[in-house]
Amino acid sequence: MNLFDYVRPASVAEAVAAAASPGAAYLAGGTNLLDLMKGGTERPARLVDITRLPGLDRIEMQDDGTIRIGAMVRNADLARHPAFAKACPAVAEALLSGASPQLRNAATVGGNLMQQTRCAYFYDPHSACNRRQEGAGCDARDGDTRNHAVLGWSDSCIATHPSDFCVPLAALDAMVEIEGPEGARETPLTSFYSLPDDTAPGGVDLAPGEMITALRLPRDAASFASHARYLKLRERTSYAFAIVSAAVMLRMQEGVIAEARIALGGVAARPWRSVIAEARLRAGAPDADLFASAAEAALQGAQPSGANAFKIILASRLLIRALERAAEGTPARMPALPASVFASDTGVSAHV
Ligand code: SF4
Repeated sequence: MNLFDYVRPASVAEAVAAAASPGAAYLAGGTNLLDLMKGGTERPARLVDITRLPGLDRIEMQDDGTIRIGAMVRNADLARHPAFAKACPAVAEALLSGASPQLRNAATVGGNLMQQTRCAYFYDPHSACNRRQEGAGCDARDGDTRNHAVLGWSDSCIATHPSDFCVPLAALDAMVEIEGPEGARETPLTSFYSLPDDTAPGGVDLAPGEMITALRLPRDAASFASHARYLKLRERTSYAFAIVSAAVMLRMQEGVIAEARIALGGVAARPWRSVIAEARLRAGAPDADLFASAAEAALQGAQPSGANAFKIILASRLLIRALERAAEGTPARMPALPASVFASDTGVSAHV
């Protein structure tokens, strides 16, 4: 049995001080950490419960157009916040496509960023895993690679980041606000995750004791609201992680794409923003050739990490479909099964 301390600080400063001790972990919604503890994958010496810290549960639509989301805002509350969903519909769509209603009620914005990969070998304490134990090796390399990376991987680790929420956030230039023993700082979400290299499996840009306090979206995030989609392909239509997903946001002017934002999920150890694909779309009229060219650019350099070459084709096709849907316009109503690629905008199944 793993014995651990449990503390419930009253302020962010107290939380940071409590988490400075070796082996401490922050507890928010607990939807990933508690599973990892039950399975023996995580064995914290101390849990610092931040669920009741004041001020971290606010969604602030600020006068200058920026949007600040406290780290303890629950996923369901953010997705159903009328002003936020109107400004950032692809983010709301991504949130609603994740997990189950019960989990979305418990899971937090900060915890979503911090969730671990769903690589099965990571969750099995008897498998070799560099991400769990430095230098141990990677059993996934000769194992089941169906859900593993096709971009940005190395022999150290081929895992993918499982978040839906982070994919449109990366496309929208979200910033992560962090508090720690050395004070406050912020970093772009696209830099928050390091990719694996020859010697290390990658991870998050957090020093010991640091915690995420908020996310911030820049003022131009809402300028994509009328042409924004998040599509997710999964093995069943709810309560499953993405095999691949795509966030697309377009700012249209007189029938031409003035600006595009593109990120893919399920393909790498971080949400995969493609500025090359975005540049291909800029100043173009939306059509099949342009979308195919953008998809080719987004998947540039993709390589199977095992028996998963199919993911490259799927990601390309899904991105093209997301581009088509975004060009048609954001639906007035969210689909009943958000982000099912088989659902029409009214939620009625469109496939036979
Ligand atoms: Fe661990 Fe990464 Fe290998 Fe999975 S792919 S076993 S997370 S090192």
